[in-house]
Amino acid sequence: MSEPVNLLVDSFGRKHTYLRVSVTDRCNLRCQYCMPAAGLNWKEKAELLTFEEIEKLTRLFTAMGICKVRLTGGEPLVRKNLLRLVEMLSAVPGLKTLAMTTNATLLAPQAEALKHAGLKHLNISLDSFDRRRFQEITRMDALPEVMAGIESAIAAGFPVLKLNMVPIAGFNDDEILDFAHFAQKHKINVRFIEFMPFKDNQWQADKVVTFAEMKARLEKHFHLEAMDQPQGEVARDYALRGGGTVSFITSMSESFCQSCNRLRLTSDGSMKSCLFFPPEINLRDALRQNAPEEALRGMILACLQGKPEAHPPAEEIAAAENRSMIEIGG
Ligand code: SF4
Repeated sequence: MSEPVNLLVDSFGRKHTYLRVSVTDRCNLRCQYCMPAAGLNWKEKAELLTFEEIEKLTRLFTAMGICKVRLTGGEPLVRKNLLRLVEMLSAVPGLKTLAMTTNATLLAPQAEALKHAGLKHLNISLDSFDRRRFQEITRMDALPEVMAGIESAIAAGFPVLKLNMVPIAGFNDDEILDFAHFAQKHKINVRFIEFMPFKDNQWQADKVVTFAEMKARLEKHFHLEAMDQPQGEVARDYALRGGGTVSFITSMSESFCQSCNRLRLTSDGSMKSCLFFPPEINLRDALRQNAPEEALRGMILACLQGKPEAHPPAEEIAAAENRSMIEIGG
């Protein structure tokens, strides 16, 4: 049976198959590179998309060409009854992969149930194995809960389990080898994500540890074997001799916008065609005014046609009036 036509093609010919859905702007951590210490003016419940609205939009996007959805936040597990949303989205026809990115502080008691409900890919954000340093980054003393969450995820046997680490020069980049050893020991994947500029995250160019630097450091201690890069996949993957894999997200040193396949939906129902492009379109209000499906499709395609070819230089991103990382969900 032939693949359904993907309608989500932008003006540069890029086919979009991946939707990142932020289910909340709230988080129980206060990571320095993500949000201000005081937190944010959280959105009222009524401003957030309901599970039924997320499901309706996911069905529409899937019918237009999306086949992978990732749940993000803030911290998605702070949204009550998230398991029910996972069950609802797992039943969406045509949705091949349901994924989530979490800080794992609330994961341990529900990892098995989430997997059972249909969650296939799990990414866990962790930037240090050192308890004091973890507290310094997140402003919370929660490393034991995170490690318990990781253990429960490994035990649950998610088909895809990855750790997301953001090395910051002079801060936690001395742990890059530890994370690679962890990947090798537990036969999982660790993704090293170049530090990206967002509103109020004190980004500086000299804090970025580039792909080339990280790879050179790792190659002094590990044999890295390049792996094939699936279509649309932005990460550079390497197998570690002895098991496990490492990946690099090189958005600052080697942009991958030419093969971008992702769109975003914010927790208050706005569609963003690009992470670093401020303009967005509000689908929530149209949905709540019972806009016909055709009109919603038109809005999605209009937003997509406005997508830029690539993100601007980092300094421009840092200065732009865009939503903060926690409001977009990465
Ligand atoms: S910066 Fe924008 S265009 Fe580039 S990869 Fe990210 S979302 Fe895609």
